Amino acid sequence: MQPLKGLTFFIFYAKLRIVFLIRNNMDKAKTLTGKCEFYSETGTEGGYWAFQDSRFIKPNTTQFVCKKCYVVWDKKRSPNGPAPIVEGALSVDKIILITKETIKKNYKLPRKCRPNKHEFELSPNEFEEYEGLHILKDGDYLFINSPKEPDKIVWEGIISLHQYPAFKKAVFGCWMHADQNGVDRKKWAEYFFKEYPAKLIKKESL
Ligand SMILES: [Zn+2]
Repeated sequence: MQPLKGLTFFIFYAKLRIVFLIRNNMDKAKTLTGKCEFYSETGTEGGYWAFQDSRFIKPNTTQFVCKKCYVVWDKKRSPNGPAPIVEGALSVDKIILITKETIKKNYKLPRKCRPNKHEFELSPNEFEEYEGLHILKDGDYLFINSPKEPDKIVWEGIISLHQYPAFKKAVFGCWMHADQNGVDRKKWAEYFFKEYPAKLIKKESL
């Protein structure tokens, strides 16, 4: 059994060394600070485990949505009153949040309010820019912190994903593409759905 022992020692040493290298890197600019995110939109066929760099999160100060009829209003673009927001070929008139109620089959859109009867509120709270979005990849190193105690690490490790074909696995009612090996799916998903604070060192910069 002697050779095996030697091998075990080597693996242990190698692991220690990787962790040491990562800890060493933490002080450098390579560590990104931000939050976990379940990234999903039309065309992604489900959600990805992702990280949003906080440098690319901007507070929303101009875009409002009516609480009653969901009409959208960008005050900066249309100072005189609500108008659809046009982005290329896309024209957005309403923004409806996905909730337990709105995904029901028999859900009916509320009627549009009369002019001056809207109840506008800023929505969303912030805008996340694509530039700061990183879909997690095998070999990235991620630290997940507790939202209540930001200095406490609730999970840290190397990303190692078990991939599934599209529309095969779901969590909390959402299609997903992969499991993180060795972590309970629901526990992992919670970090991302609740957008826990996190730090990321990308594989390329390790
Ligand atoms: Zn309204």
